[in-house]
Amino acid sequence: MKTLAQNISKTILNILSKKNNVFPLHEPCFHGNEWNYVKECIDTGWVSSTGQFVNKFEELLAKYTGSKYAVAVVNGTAALHMCLKIAGVKNNDEVIIPALSFVATANAVSYCGAIPHFVDSEEKTLGIDPSKLDDYLNDIAIVRSNQCINKITGRKIQAVVPVHTFGHPVDLDAIKEICEHFSLALIEDAAESLGSFYKGCHTGTYGLLSALSFNGNKTVTTGGGGAILTNDKKLADYAKHLTTTAKKAHKWEYIHDYIGYNYRMPNINAAIGCAQMEQLPIFIDLKRKLALKYEIAFSKIEGVSFFVEPNFGKSNYWLNSILLDKPSIEKRNFVLELINSKGIMARPAWNLLHLLPMYKDCPKMSLKTSKKIADSLINIPSSVII
Ligand SMILES: *Cc1c(COP(=O)(O)O)cnc(C)c1O
Repeated sequence: MKTLAQNISKTILNILSKKNNVFPLHEPCFHGNEWNYVKECIDTGWVSSTGQFVNKFEELLAKYTGSKYAVAVVNGTAALHMCLKIAGVKNNDEVIIPALSFVATANAVSYCGAIPHFVDSEEKTLGIDPSKLDDYLNDIAIVRSNQCINKITGRKIQAVVPVHTFGHPVDLDAIKEICEHFSLALIEDAAESLGSFYKGCHTGTYGLLSALSFNGNKTVTTGGGGAILTNDKKLADYAKHLTTTAKKAHKWEYIHDYIGYNYRMPNINAAIGCAQMEQLPIFIDLKRKLALKYEIAFSKIEGVSFFVEPNFGKSNYWLNSILLDKPSIEKRNFVLELINSKGIMARPAWNLLHLLPMYKDCPKMSLKTSKKIADSLINIPSSVII
């Protein structure tokens, strides 16, 4: 075990810059117009939730992803919350999500009063396993007048939220087909996958609606931020309206026609986002180059493998992952302990969501592969190195 951990540590140190002695998991990279654009916000007083950078940032996102519309919001969790709400997720509905995800995916479901229903992931993509999902739904669900009903709980299943884990695209065609067959809304959690493509289409453009995140550790950051993507004009207008307190346009009157949300991204954050979007192609190029170096180096190390993007996609390699050949929490933790002691910031995958106290009683299928992945996966330093 010790030899394996030392080999992993040496392999990583060989690849990362020798100039430093600490290697963060994912640092933001500000080498563009960030200062200029932020200064412009402060000099002009346009710092809050109206201003030209917010509109510009939305245009840049739509253009880059090929989505018809983008609506910028305060963070990725808020984006997911709005996607679910707009897709009709209501109190006491169920929403299918992978157990292997960041807690925000489940929390957004809870904000709608709905119940997360956990499904298994596959080793090929680290995301929802379409074939298991299909078998499972055939077993537990029935479609009645265009509604998918869980035969066991009696509740309506309203949506499926695949996550493009660590930036790697899931098998969207297969999942979309299942959603169509079972009358389920497809919402993509693309929080980690800006710059990742599935069969040539940007992730987050297959679903009815999708969520992006611009948290400080994501590929593009606005400090904190998120966005909703959709190709449907009505849904985009509704998303913009709901996230800006549902205020009707008027010269001076305060007329609000829904219980809206104060979720609009402030201009000062969008200013950073505009500068970051200008650099996104370079970020992706450098991240993919780093991943390739890891892939080559780890192919020579026994007992561990580097996770490579699925062949139908092109990944942003947001977080690089290695997987121990023999899944075991003890071994994984031993390796984490040793490599972190060398200044290499390495992290496990998330604790599976069905194990968290607030989600322990939620419905779920067998989560065998998710457990295997969680017991063997380690994320290693993945920042853009310039
Ligand atoms: C980062 C992230 C989110 C939430 O984004 P925030 O901007 O931090 O709210 C949601 N889902 C996944 C999978 C994420 O990685």
